[in-house]
Amino acid sequence: MQPLRIFNTLSREKEPFQPLTPPHVGLYVCGPTVYNYVHLGNVRTFMTFDVLFRYLTHLGYKVRYVRNLTDVGHLVGDGDEGEDKIGRMAKLEKLEPMEIVQRYTNDFHTILAQFNFKPPSIEPTATGHLIEQIEAVKKLIDKKLAYESNGSVYFDIERYNAQGGRYGQLSGRILDDLLTETRELDGVGEKRNPLDFALWKRAAPEHLMRWPSPWGEGFPGWHLECTCMSTKYLGQQFDIHGGGMDLKFPHHECEIAQGSGLNDIPPVRYWMHTNMLTVNGQKMSKSLGNSFLPGELFSGNHPVLERAYSPMTARFFMLQSQYRSTLDFSNEALQSAQKGYKRLINGLRLIRQMDYVAVEGMAIDPAQGEEIRNGVQGCYDGMNDDLNTAVTIAHLFTLLKKINSLYTGQLSPAALGEESFRFLKTSFVTIIEDVLGLLEEKQGNAEDLAAGLLDLYRDFKTQKQYQKVDQIRAYFKANGLVIKDMKTGIDWAYEE
Ligand code: AMP
Ligand code: ZN
Repeated sequence: MQPLRIFNTLSREKEPFQPLTPPHVGLYVCGPTVYNYVHLGNVRTFMTFDVLFRYLTHLGYKVRYVRNLTDVGHLVGDGDEGEDKIGRMAKLEKLEPMEIVQRYTNDFHTILAQFNFKPPSIEPTATGHLIEQIEAVKKLIDKKLAYESNGSVYFDIERYNAQGGRYGQLSGRILDDLLTETRELDGVGEKRNPLDFALWKRAAPEHLMRWPSPWGEGFPGWHLECTCMSTKYLGQQFDIHGGGMDLKFPHHECEIAQGSGLNDIPPVRYWMHTNMLTVNGQKMSKSLGNSFLPGELFSGNHPVLERAYSPMTARFFMLQSQYRSTLDFSNEALQSAQKGYKRLINGLRLIRQMDYVAVEGMAIDPAQGEEIRNGVQGCYDGMNDDLNTAVTIAHLFTLLKKINSLYTGQLSPAALGEESFRFLKTSFVTIIEDVLGLLEEKQGNAEDLAAGLLDLYRDFKTQKQYQKVDQIRAYFKANGLVIKDMKTGIDWAYEE
């Protein structure tokens, strides 16, 4: 089998994946800034890493998956000036900042569970790691890679580069271009060089979220939290760091500078970046106003949506494209994803119900087994080619054809032979459920079904067909329900 290859943003190449200390794998993903509801674009990024976590685990690795919650330090505009996103929301809503954090953390967890995400191994918060961040700032000052200025501390890019650092390498930015792009206002007058970024910021009097530090009251920089939390739990150098591609610069560029500066070793082996979910070609984003919430998708309650779509339909829709390509939202695409998802899940139901039955005298057809092995291999080749879930799904559909032939009787399990039949069954179920995380969504409303059965019950009673009447009573009883024949009418109740 081809080994897993991952596109490393740092080398701009697909590289064979080799963990630092197999069978362990360290995976860090930048989590949400919990000041607002997660939108469907955010879900795409986290889904990519959910699938990576699932696949690495499936391959037998012992994965420690750390996904943080940003609950301080991420400023409006993503730079070094301005209000804290959480503090700003707290003022608007007249709540404690930690009430904002709790509300949107709860929402994040609920939404991710609806999409069948696996929880990470550790979910650290930035405010829970202030001591580590203050220690890191002190160390960088000691190493002369950072300097204090007016109660804030900045990372010294020039010095870092003079010592062999390559700030800009990850995002492919050239320092001179960066200088012309940099907003003059960021830390005006405090920075030695406009590219320097904040490790610690002095809190202005109106700033809500503040802590004491050797440099006065302030708060940590957004980039530093990820460096401290990733290296604390995964080591000074770890295997994979992920996030959306909009985080490449400055966030991840700064993480490399901080980690290398602190520990004299590049912090990450493989950098993975997901592409954006777009709407009419434009990045879905809260600030652009074109985002919608998963809840709106499930209810269909949004002007962009022609109707409601289920979580698994959305999951299938996202997995139908490779994570490094853009994915444009459209109703047509969602509708075809719904059809595809249901076809696949029908196949899952069928194969689950089937069992191997030997037929005496029936010869095994080796070509059939070969096709199954090729189909399963195709699924793995897709995953191994930088998580190309689109290819994996295409091969699942070739396996689905076999399952449908088994169901209609065109093909007999005995013609496949027991080994191939069982291989088809376990591979199909495992790839869909364990690797891709697609689950069967139960359809149908039990109350509606009960009401329909009660209609039949009434008719059979009027026709004096008592055998049928008893049969329906027995169905209800088997489900813990009783039929109540009352003067006022017929109804059902829970059996007491
Ligand atoms: P935020 O809470 O804004 O820091 O975003 C959380 C994660 O979602 C980050 O990894 C972002 O890169 C990612 N993200 C934001 N918008 C999109 C989008 N439209 N498509 C895919 N990922 C996104
Ligand atoms: Zn981060």
